[in-house]
Amino acid sequence: MRAMVLRRAGERLAIEDWSDPVPGPGQIRIRVEACGVCRTDLHVVDGDLTDPKLPVVPGHEIVGRIEAAGQGVAVAPGARVGVPWLGHTCGHCPYCRSGQENLCDAPLFTGYTRDGGFATHAVADAVYAFPLPDDLDPVAAAPLLCAGLIGWRSLKAAGEGETIGLYGFGAAAHIIAQVCRWQGRRVFAFTRRGDAAGQAFARSMGADWAGGSDETPPAPLDAAILFAPVGALVPAALAAVRKGGRVVCGGIHMSDIPAFPYRLLWEERSVVSVANLTRADGEEFLALAPRVPVRTTTTIYPLDRANEALDDLRAGRLEGAAVLAP
Ligand SMILES: [Zn+2]
Ligand SMILES: [Zn+2]
Repeated sequence: MRAMVLRRAGERLAIEDWSDPVPGPGQIRIRVEACGVCRTDLHVVDGDLTDPKLPVVPGHEIVGRIEAAGQGVAVAPGARVGVPWLGHTCGHCPYCRSGQENLCDAPLFTGYTRDGGFATHAVADAVYAFPLPDDLDPVAAAPLLCAGLIGWRSLKAAGEGETIGLYGFGAAAHIIAQVCRWQGRRVFAFTRRGDAAGQAFARSMGADWAGGSDETPPAPLDAAILFAPVGALVPAALAAVRKGGRVVCGGIHMSDIPAFPYRLLWEERSVVSVANLTRADGEEFLALAPRVPVRTTTTIYPLDRANEALDDLRAGRLEGAAVLAP
C-alpha cells in the first residue's frame, strides 16, 4: 500500500510504500476511497497531541470498501464502511461498562495510536466501523465521520436551546449548522475577525447571523459550541450565553484559557468539554444526516498532497472540509 507517514512530530508527511496490512482477528482491511482531513490530524502532526504511535499514518475519517477480513469477522467483501476516530475500546473498564466508551481507559484512536486512512489501505476493528450505503459519494461522506460525529456529540451536549453559537466555522460547524436549522434552531456563527468570506460561507450554510468572535451577537445564546482551538474564546462565549447557558468545547486540543472574572460564569453558566465519540453517537448521526440532508462542502486533494491539505487547514484557507482521495 501507499501511505502518507509521519515519522516524527513536527515533520512533513512523506509518501511511503508499505506492505499491505494483514487484518488480525476481528479486523477488516479496507481499500480507502476517501479520507477527511481533520484539525485533530494537525494536532497529531504538529505534536500538540503527545505520544502518537510512530511512525503513524494519520487520518480518521475513512470511507472505503472491505477487501479482506480476519478471523471471526462475517462481512461481505466489497461492503462500504466508515472508520472513525474511536478505533477500539477495552470493553471492561468502568467507562465502557457504563455506556461511556468515549472515555475508555485503554482506547485506540485511528490515525493517532493506530494507523489511519491517509493511505490506499487501512485496517480497523470490524465492530468499530459503521456500515455505509453503496450509493453515497465517499468524498462527501468522509467529513461526517469526525466533523459530523463530534459535532453531533457537541450539539447534544449543548442541550435543547433554540439559539446556538458556533465559534470557528470549519468542517464541523458547516455540518452542524445544517442540523441546527433542520431542528428549527437559530445559528449565530463566529469566525476570525474580518473573515468576510468565512462569514458569507456561514450564512450560505444557514447561519442567521455571522460575525467576528469579538462581536456581540444580536441575541443572547442558549449555548455555544467552540470548534476553534482557541482558549480565549471560552470567556468570549461565556459572555455571549444567557443565564444558565452552556459553553461546549468540541476540540481535543485548545490553547490555554485565559483568566476571566467570575461574573462570566456566575448565574449557572457552565463550561464542558466533549471527548471522542461513542458508537451510539455514530449510529445516530449517520442515520440522521441523510434525513436533513447534510451536504458537505469539500476540497479534494490527491493522497500525496496531504501536506498541502494540512497547510490549507492550518492557514484557514479552506471552505468546509479537505478530503484526500487516493
Ligand atoms: Zn474501556
Ligand atoms: Zn477528527
